Amino acid sequence: MKTDTTKAIIQFGTRQIPYRLYHGDRKRLRVVVSPEFMVDVFAPKTASEEQVQIAVQKKAPWIARTLDKLESYHPLPTPKRYVSGETLLYLGRQYRLKVENGLTRPAKLWGGFLWVSVEDRSDNHRTRKAVKTWYRKRAHETLARYLEKCYAIASRHGVPEPLLVIRAMRRRWGSCSTSDRITLNLNLVQVPVHCIEYVVMHELCHLKHHNHSKAFYSLLSRCQPDWRRRKETLEKFRLA
Ligand SMILES: [Zn+2]
Repeated sequence: MKTDTTKAIIQFGTRQIPYRLYHGDRKRLRVVVSPEFMVDVFAPKTASEEQVQIAVQKKAPWIARTLDKLESYHPLPTPKRYVSGETLLYLGRQYRLKVENGLTRPAKLWGGFLWVSVEDRSDNHRTRKAVKTWYRKRAHETLARYLEKCYAIASRHGVPEPLLVIRAMRRRWGSCSTSDRITLNLNLVQVPVHCIEYVVMHELCHLKHHNHSKAFYSLLSRCQPDWRRRKETLEKFRLA
């Protein structure tokens, strides 16, 4: 049972990580990092402040790593409000939206922000349009590049040359047709590059095997030996 709670901080490099400390009837110290970025330390009632601090400090690298992982695996959010400060994902990294009053210009990624300049920044509709246009442009450039890269490998295994279609899809990252057409989800530019490559390679392999047969997976493994690891990361991202 939890008894008293205190708030404390661990120093890890230049980083200060706050945590909540609970003392209770337990034998060993336990650290829990929740998806809400909270760090909870459960310590035995008998442990002194110093003992707890030393034990938590030892776990600091793990805590920092876990927090980082949580941050990069944040589920895909579709920006709903289009106001300054909102988080956007691009190639698996988080950026913040910065909306300024000024001449209407194309959105630009710079210094951790996606800068949008519109005549009236309270006009969310305009901001939304600028952000969407930016994503679409990035998607066309990025997805075409990785398709080319993956096709260079897949073509050596008898995969026919694909036609690329990019559009927003609600339920899938990608799909393919029997007419050698691959459709990729516009929102795929939000996930890390190695996940984009996984989706692209998966669809490319379907151009040769239109099913999930043994032959399909054996082709995929030849084209992309580490596809399972990539798939696992992709599964941490939700389609918005
Ligand atoms: Zn498939």
